[in-house]
Amino acid sequence: MARPIPVPNDFNKPFWDAVNERKLKVQKCTTCGRLGYPPRRTCDKCGGTTFEWHQVQGKGHVDVGFTIRDSRIKGFREMQPINFAIITLDEDPGLNFLSNLPGTPAGTIPLGAPVELIFEEVAPGRLLHEWRVIK
Ligand SMILES: [Zn+2]
Repeated sequence: MARPIPVPNDFNKPFWDAVNERKLKVQKCTTCGRLGYPPRRTCDKCGGTTFEWHQVQGKGHVDVGFTIRDSRIKGFREMQPINFAIITLDEDPGLNFLSNLPGTPAGTIPLGAPVELIFEEVAPGRLLHEWRVIK
């Protein structure tokens, strides 16, 4: 399946650098300690604008899922049926990631199932974080 290759900018580059090292790092607000993903310029909780990068463990579970079967949106047509799931991290339920759940057949998303972080190579030397259901 063709996946879009992320284009890092100066702002989210530390996130993508970590992914290329098979690590998942999220922003940690230096004012209030809130963890945040995706990267943003202002803390949701306190409005702070300075962050550290905090490595998370990469354990979570499937929170919500759906399968696209007959979208007419160009770009989905070649991929469908395709799973989309929202992953919630065990470490902090405020951290959510979108996943296609590689390895899980379309239409069989196990809600509540535990998932683990994996990395897929989308281009030479370029990794993308994904989530796989733990069987
Ligand atoms: Zn904050």
